[in-house]
Amino acid sequence: MKNVYDVIIIGAGASGLAAAIECSRRQLTCLIIDKNKKPGNKLYATGNGRCNVTNDQYDSGVYYNNPFTDQILQQADLRDFTIHFMHDIGIHLTEKKGYYYPMSMQASSVVWALLDAIDKNRVDFEQNTEVLQIEPSVTDNREAASHYLIQCSDHKEYQCRAIILSMGGCSAPELGAADPAVSYRLLDSLGIHYQPYTPALVPIKTSEDVSALNGVRQHALLTIGDSAYTEEGEIQFTDQGISGIVVFNQAEFIRNLLTSGKAVVKINPIPEITRDAFLSDQQALANCLPNRSILAFLNGYMNDKLARYLLDRMEEAQILDHSAQIAGLPEHTAERIYDYITNSFCVHPIELYGFDKSQASSGGICTDQINPETMEFHDKPGIFAVGEAIDVLGKCGGYNLSFALYSGHLAGSHVLLR
Ligand SMILES: Cc1cc2nc3c(=O)[nH]c(=O)nc-3n(C[C@H](O)[C@H](O)[C@H](O)COP(=O)(O)OP(=O)(O)OC[C@H]3O[C@@H](n4cnc5c(N)ncnc54)[C@H](O)[C@@H]3O)c2cc1C
Repeated sequence: MKNVYDVIIIGAGASGLAAAIECSRRQLTCLIIDKNKKPGNKLYATGNGRCNVTNDQYDSGVYYNNPFTDQILQQADLRDFTIHFMHDIGIHLTEKKGYYYPMSMQASSVVWALLDAIDKNRVDFEQNTEVLQIEPSVTDNREAASHYLIQCSDHKEYQCRAIILSMGGCSAPELGAADPAVSYRLLDSLGIHYQPYTPALVPIKTSEDVSALNGVRQHALLTIGDSAYTEEGEIQFTDQGISGIVVFNQAEFIRNLLTSGKAVVKINPIPEITRDAFLSDQQALANCLPNRSILAFLNGYMNDKLARYLLDRMEEAQILDHSAQIAGLPEHTAERIYDYITNSFCVHPIELYGFDKSQASSGGICTDQINPETMEFHDKPGIFAVGEAIDVLGKCGGYNLSFALYSGHLAGSHVLLR
């Protein structure tokens, strides 16, 4: 192994591997350094092992209206890019409800194809070692002055003409994510501005004891705070709060509300049932099955543990008695049940879970320093940043991986071009 390269890529995740593919296609000599034993370690866990790489729907909202990704979306169609990029490395995608996965439904096939597409004659891998220090090589020679010295935890040192920072964020430390202290040190040494990494796409702890609902999955409409943010999908209850893709996606908004003390999440578990339909169902069942309990009636719409939980809450609110039956409800009680279920079932977030439960990080390298057409720093020629290391967060649905692949591809295509 050499110790002088054209390009050194720090991090062998999706973004670093995409960058390496382009570097090797362009005949650049390249070294990828990664602290994990094997490259693409996090990729294996994505999409529950199936690797959801892209999506049919792209708009500003899927990246939380980030001006930087707005520019990216103007210059590229990330769905088409990802389909073609994957096709070119021999991975064919299949679409399920707008979400795209490899046809194998195995994340491992994506990792393998990414690695196989890298020309090993040009690209070296240094695994199981962490980059601890980056320094400009100090010299009087103008050309050599643009070289960087990289120092690793195994005491090895390398030099390069350009660096691609692809060290990801700090989510899922058990999968070998970046150590924030090390990343901050590297960024500080290069004079790069950043926002601290915080857990994103993460479950939420609530003040209410929902442990009786632990494990329950229910389709629901979530409304956050003052109704500005709503999303429909499957919610999962945990022993301490709520989880699931809709919750992950809304965690960013909840984080902001937590500081104001106004964090509340309204859960409507029957968004597709209108008031009229509910009342007419109740009337019809009261006529043909008058002895049916309210619990069983609600269980016709939702998980039985959730029906029981809501019934307890409604009993506390003196709306009805637990033992009530579908027939003979006092006047307007059916309306009040509907209104409670659709409008008054709330939980109050008190905390987001940590990096160990998060699928991505928010924060990272501030994007105003980066050219979105190349991923190179405006005022640091030869330094590029890609993927989750930078302050870009996508919702669940393949948006983080497609951004990681696209930004890596851009950096690999432009590094040392001028
Ligand atoms: C459980 C889980 C499921 C997910 N599922 C999906 C999904 O289905 N679809 C989707 O779009 N997104 C998904 N994501 C998010 C997605 O995986 C990431 O956004 C994406 O992998 C980021 O790629 P990256 O290359 O930027 O960073 P990473 O994949 O994190 O790679 C960075 C690499 O750099 C290494 N590194 C860090 N610091 C150093 C250092 N100082 N020296 C050497 N090496 C270093 C790390 O060890 C790591 O291997 C999921 C995330 C998780 C945790």
